[in-house]
Amino acid sequence: MAPDLDPSTVVVHAGRPERVPNAPVSDSPVFSSTYVAGGDRGYGRFGNDAWTAFEETLGALEGGRGLTFASGMAAAAAVCDLVPVGGRVVAPIHAYSGVLALLDQQAATGRLHVNRVDVADTEAVARAVVGADMLWVESPTNPAMEVADLPAISAAGRAAGATVVVDNTFATPLLQQPLALGADIVMHSATKFIAGHSDVVLGAVVTADNELWTALELRRRSLGAIPGPMETWLALRGLRTLALRLERSQSTAAFLAQKLLEHPRVSRVRYPGLPDDAGHARAAAQMSGFGAILSFEVGGDAEFAQRICESTKLWLHATSLGGVESLLERRRRWAIEVPTIPDDLIRLSVGIEHPTDLWADLEQAFTSAT
Ligand SMILES: *Cc1c(COP(=O)(O)O)cnc(C)c1O
Repeated sequence: MAPDLDPSTVVVHAGRPERVPNAPVSDSPVFSSTYVAGGDRGYGRFGNDAWTAFEETLGALEGGRGLTFASGMAAAAAVCDLVPVGGRVVAPIHAYSGVLALLDQQAATGRLHVNRVDVADTEAVARAVVGADMLWVESPTNPAMEVADLPAISAAGRAAGATVVVDNTFATPLLQQPLALGADIVMHSATKFIAGHSDVVLGAVVTADNELWTALELRRRSLGAIPGPMETWLALRGLRTLALRLERSQSTAAFLAQKLLEHPRVSRVRYPGLPDDAGHARAAAQMSGFGAILSFEVGGDAEFAQRICESTKLWLHATSLGGVESLLERRRRWAIEVPTIPDDLIRLSVGIEHPTDLWADLEQAFTSAT
């Protein structure tokens, strides 16, 4: 594709079949576990047209080559498997709890060592990464919404000889391109904004480094964490409308962040789009938008927070994020969530409903929960 196209155009046109007479406009999933000998396909665990179309589109957006996995966690596990036995990973204090649990499990068996740092503290990251094999970053972080200085910490990671990995799930490939900011590998839970309709579990990685890509593809084959063809087809179908979905949900997120800030029962709002947010300047410098996830706290009252989550009529009380429907949850309801995440923190995943309806329902939930 032409290099000067806007990402909102690339997301529609990348990864399409070649424009020749009678060619389909979109690729179809191939439901076959094996292929007739003589070509390069071989077997269903090695490739599928629907994977390729999805991977090419994601690769075009992130500026590298994509690889899809059975879930975000399968992608994360393949990436962590790149760490040599006994090696060291620098990981965030706050990040997706499943990834942190995976690293803890591997540390418990002696497979690798983990150092946890506040990724918003650039100096601390730079100190910790000396001698490390991998720097794992999330920005903005789930669900604390901290913003890491991606160019600075990627440079520090690379200088130390560590592989720099960014979980870009919250920002999406439209709002932030970590490879261009210096990362080696981008990881996605495509379950979230990419697929966008809460109907598929899927993951992906993107890298511009062919050696890393080959090492990850080998792990996909050998660990067997492959997606179904239907999942990647659904995800690509969802990805085509990401720019429109984000435009709506991100502007609603900004509106809700402001409304929450003004609400008497709210003690803190975490959204990098707010001018007073600690991550605002960094996010403005490295992202083309502030995204559609925000968190807020209600003065330390976890039970009140829980009742709010149980009192909405429009917002769905459910985990996950990035779908067209708005979701909320108190993150600490999960035993796996990091204990430094406040007990009364509610994470909002803003969907594409009308902003006024979403705010009215939240206000109503505050009143019912009081
Ligand atoms: C959901 C999520 C994951 C895990 O992805 P799955 O698709 O659920 O396996 C990883 N990182 C972040 C930031 C997530 O939100």
